[in-house]
Amino acid sequence: MAYRWETPASVWLEDENSGQFELAASEGLGRIDWSSHARGRVADFAHLLGASLPRACADNQGEGCEHSSIYPEGFSFCPTCGKPLARLAGTAQRQPDWWGPHADQLLPRHVPHGLPVTSLPLGDSLEERPAAPVVGRFDSAMPPPPNSQCIFIAAGYGFPEQRLLALAPGRGVLQYWDPLGELWHVLVPEEGTAELRFGAADYGWLPVTEPRRGEVGLVPTAQGLYRLWINPINETYRLESVLAAPMVAAPGAMRRQLACLVRGHAGVLVLSSLGADLAPGPQYECGALPLSGWSRPIGYDGQLCWLHADGQLLWRPGEAPRFLPWPGTWLPRLQFGGPTLSRDGRMWLIGHDGLSYCFLELGVPNPQREPIDGARLGFANLLFRRGHPVVDEPWSGEHVEDQNEDDSLVLPLLRSFNNNRAQPSGLVLRFHKYTGRAEEALADRVIARTTVEWIGRRNVILDEIARLSRPLECLPFVYANHLWLHHPDWNRIRGWNLEELT
Ligand SMILES: [Zn+2]
Repeated sequence: MAYRWETPASVWLEDENSGQFELAASEGLGRIDWSSHARGRVADFAHLLGASLPRACADNQGEGCEHSSIYPEGFSFCPTCGKPLARLAGTAQRQPDWWGPHADQLLPRHVPHGLPVTSLPLGDSLEERPAAPVVGRFDSAMPPPPNSQCIFIAAGYGFPEQRLLALAPGRGVLQYWDPLGELWHVLVPEEGTAELRFGAADYGWLPVTEPRRGEVGLVPTAQGLYRLWINPINETYRLESVLAAPMVAAPGAMRRQLACLVRGHAGVLVLSSLGADLAPGPQYECGALPLSGWSRPIGYDGQLCWLHADGQLLWRPGEAPRFLPWPGTWLPRLQFGGPTLSRDGRMWLIGHDGLSYCFLELGVPNPQREPIDGARLGFANLLFRRGHPVVDEPWSGEHVEDQNEDDSLVLPLLRSFNNNRAQPSGLVLRFHKYTGRAEEALADRVIARTTVEWIGRRNVILDEIARLSRPLECLPFVYANHLWLHHPDWNRIRGWNLEELT
């Protein structure tokens, strides 16, 4: 026999003999498979759900109760012995969501969306550290997820406490971090669920602003666009179809309209639009365009722009999409970062016309070109020519503060947008004593010494890395009041403390 307890979100069963509680159902999660997963994860479940835990003796409240390892949400006392419990309901700090460096929802409109730009004020904490040339160290470490070619998302998914997910799209694997057990768990697809795998283009998902319990967001897969739900108790996930057509690029959002590039009949590229309520909108055949290799869409000036080695696809809600091939011999260097803005607000992309590097104006049929004398790495005005920042126009001369930086090469990873600052700040990698070509540094050459740096009001060297290769796989993310940096080759994710972010 078991007593049934109902809380606003859950149903719990209390064993009549032992006094042990188990979760029978919880809002949005359906039937719970408690016995196969509860072992070792009770603390994580309690925090995730905002349930109650017996107090440990260390609380100096006398002996803790041993009747149950967990109690329903809101319980203050053990119903068997009356001893006080630790109530977790309502105690979780509100933490900012992290949807990947390309999906910040809070950036103002005049900043391009879809680039690694965050609105979180990371500099406020990081600039408190000793300034360069002092070489710092990371404060915390986390093991990488078992499938380490992945991207990270930290959000609440409708639960009281935030959790970190790592999705490896190439293998279609979703991983869940239990911060109390300090373990990654691979979530299993529920029976009949479609595959998560997506490898046709740069990966990108769309967040939900007000998620229901377990709701993660909209994800592209090889079969279509799906709504992703997780059940962290059962360690499962499921996909709910939103658009059943093979996705060939990451979806984009503009003015409450969604746009998906899909493979249509006879292998033509089709842009399918969806309304704010995800109801199907107009579809446009784009013709025989590439079915792989697209960048994540960049949203700027009321239109979405997918970049490709062959050209750019532009879409403004309510209009037909336009494909503009690159002019003449000009080829983009997409690996250098991404679009950047001139002072008059036009968007530009770096490339090479066979003779020299130059910036090409984006989004217009007869683009202007601005030649430059060497590679420039970065995006969204966080731009470097070798070791020196480029301020003013993207093609302006670099700002030389220290001649010694001539023999280093800086690769921007994440810009932290701050309206109150004249110069962009952000996280970069600096390759020391590297005078080779930028293309080679970004490919698989091994770079002997790299520093991780914060460029801001003061420059801070956060850490040092020996023998780095494939630096473009360095992925920053923010979770649990830390800035983290992951690389699939490393055996730990490095983390730096941030003061409480709001
Ligand atoms: Zn008790």
